[in-house]
Amino acid sequence: MNLTSSIPENLATVRTRITDCEIKYARQPGSVRLIAVSKTHPPGAIVAVHAAGQLHFGENYLQEALDKMQQLAALPLHWHYIGPIQSNKTRELARHFDWVHTVDREKVAQRLNEQRPAERGQLNILLQVNISQENSKAGVSLQELPDLAAVVAKLPRLKLCGLMAIPAPEDDFSRQRAAFHSLVVARQHLQTLGYHHCRELSMGMSHDFAAAIAEQATMVRIGTDIFGNRAKA
Ligand SMILES: *Cc1c(COP(=O)(O)O)cnc(C)c1O
Repeated sequence: MNLTSSIPENLATVRTRITDCEIKYARQPGSVRLIAVSKTHPPGAIVAVHAAGQLHFGENYLQEALDKMQQLAALPLHWHYIGPIQSNKTRELARHFDWVHTVDREKVAQRLNEQRPAERGQLNILLQVNISQENSKAGVSLQELPDLAAVVAKLPRLKLCGLMAIPAPEDDFSRQRAAFHSLVVARQHLQTLGYHHCRELSMGMSHDFAAAIAEQATMVRIGTDIFGNRAKA
């Protein structure tokens, strides 16, 4: 499963499953963007996935990501940061990433805005929302989301593009859908408040992306089904 040679096949299978879900749930063809989550996998694995046409990659660990970016600088890749943010690490995020999915507090947003180099254009921001409150501390609460959106929308070097969530692991399809649905409702609420650019929904991983696509995901973050199992830390 971890062999680099099986990666193009895995990627093709995942793409077919995404397309099948788009059809089954009456989504616009091509409306779900695949983010290949390459954390813990070596640069060679990313090269193999890129060779099969994949341009968007997600990373969780800053130093590991920076090392890969340096080694793969010749490739036209789009980098998404999907890990927890320590506020003393924002400078490197602001410099090197194209998207940050995990903004969940004002201080981090302010720092990313100050530290985004002018020549790199706006940094695309998703707000991480805590939709399964008891299970995780990461993410802004639904109650506090409108205030955080208001702050981010005013920061000139950031572009508020949408919402992200990591629900508690759940095997039942309809319960997976119910969790994702709360992010759809949150996006709807922000749009009624006037945040019309807040369109993206980053939700769904290897075990639950079908439910996420059924619930209007625009980005699915898939690691294991493409790269194989990660070594246990
Ligand atoms: C690791 C990770 C993924 C990918 O998970 P898989 O189960 O390997 O597909 C997606 N999103 C986040 C935030 C992650 O940390």
